[in-house]
Amino acid sequence: MKNNRYDAIIVGTGVAGLFTALSLPCNCNILMVTKEEADISDSYLAQGGISTLLEPEDFDVYFEDTLKAGRYQNNPESVQEMILSSNDVIRRLLEYGVDFDKTSEGDFEYTREGGHSEYRILHHQDVTGKEIVEKLLKEVKTRSNITIQEYTTMIDLLIQEGACIGIAAKTKEKLLCFYANAVFLATGGVGGIFKNSTNFSQITGDGIALALRHNIEVTNMNYIQIHPTVLYSKRKGRRFLISESVRGEGAILLNEEGKRFVNELLPRDLLTQAIHKEMERYQVDYVYLSMENISKDKILRHFPNIYARCKEEGYDALTDLIPVTPAQHYLMGGIKTDINGTTSMKHLYAVGETACNGVHGANRLASNSLLESLVFARNAANHYVLMHAGTCLEEGYVEVSLEKYMNQDDWEAINKQLILEEIKRKDKEFYDAWC
Ligand SMILES: Cc1cc2nc3c(=O)[nH]c(=O)nc-3n(C[C@H](O)[C@H](O)[C@H](O)COP(=O)(O)OP(=O)(O)OC[C@H]3O[C@@H](n4cnc5c(N)ncnc54)[C@H](O)[C@@H]3O)c2cc1C
Repeated sequence: MKNNRYDAIIVGTGVAGLFTALSLPCNCNILMVTKEEADISDSYLAQGGISTLLEPEDFDVYFEDTLKAGRYQNNPESVQEMILSSNDVIRRLLEYGVDFDKTSEGDFEYTREGGHSEYRILHHQDVTGKEIVEKLLKEVKTRSNITIQEYTTMIDLLIQEGACIGIAAKTKEKLLCFYANAVFLATGGVGGIFKNSTNFSQITGDGIALALRHNIEVTNMNYIQIHPTVLYSKRKGRRFLISESVRGEGAILLNEEGKRFVNELLPRDLLTQAIHKEMERYQVDYVYLSMENISKDKILRHFPNIYARCKEEGYDALTDLIPVTPAQHYLMGGIKTDINGTTSMKHLYAVGETACNGVHGANRLASNSLLESLVFARNAANHYVLMHAGTCLEEGYVEVSLEKYMNQDDWEAINKQLILEEIKRKDKEFYDAWC
């Protein structure tokens, strides 16, 4: 095999990309590319945890919680697939060494977040994403069939006769082409194009922009989740999330007069509306989060990261009120797929936050995104095996001229514009308020 030809190319090293790679067979020659270091992803930032089906009797309640949060716009087939697959992917995470918090009796310590009727969320303190990414990455690095190329940004899809045949990419030094039987887009959400977001700034919806450029079906781009409680800060840059599980464990929200004004465990869209109303009423940029109902031991043990970050901003979560405000957090829409990650273009899959199979509907239930990323990444890998088993990469692809990518600033500005226009086309009110 020539050194720019692979069986599969995976763009992105968040949980969706990593789990796709680990779910493909060991004889599959895989290239993973990522914009920066492999552990720089939104997946790494996940705090609260990962939902799972507690027992068969929990199915109906979990299903209803997911649909209710999604304003009943969800695709029921996707929701069912995610919930029924949850125990299987958690088992695999445990096999890879992921360590979820346990009670003193040695049972899993489940937590709860807004919209969940049950305590069904597994977590590792308040750094669940870091724990999962580190363990998946460690496993990927043991696999000789997987090459990770860091600081390599996909800039375009290579397309021949209506099928995806690879990607054009740039490294610090040069532009390159890579070819494969199939490309998996695992490029995450769109937070990087927003002024205020909890996402890393380099997560700019690149996969979605390329889909828009190449008429690959994209859907529900107006379904964008605003997280109700990020730490208010005058500093520029990424907004620090204060996980919903803090409210799940008893933290309350107070207005300017120190009065409680809302049920803190409402789904995120409704809570955001309530917070906004209070901010407008008092003409302020934040409301307050009080952790007075959570024990000191619980705060320090379950939320050490949140505690430390608040301290850095000058607030002691044990005694002070923490100013919080809403910010862009998650994209429920994206590249349209089925439950196997297939897109409207042949040989192109999309998985994780960049994909939309309707599992979240109009609004994601907390802690369902790590889970869906894993479940549908696994499905996409299985689908690839069914479709491509024994296929040899065809020789004779037309080598692509890279000249048109020379002016990267223009290229990226157009990508951003394409996404913003799609959001505006779908929901002008949202666009005017947040973009
Ligand atoms: C602060 C925060 C807290 C969260 N907490 C939770 C939680 O508790 N529970 C939960 O379920 N979900 C949570 N989420 C959501 C969840 O983390 C993400 O939705 C999910 O991890 C997305 O995974 P992904 O693999 O699709 O994308 P990401 O993890 O965002 O990874 C995207 C990858 O694509 C790469 N990439 C992007 N564009 C290119 C390109 N052009 N070329 C090459 N590489 C590219 C990036 O470098 C990165 O490696 C949280 C999100 C944030 C931001």
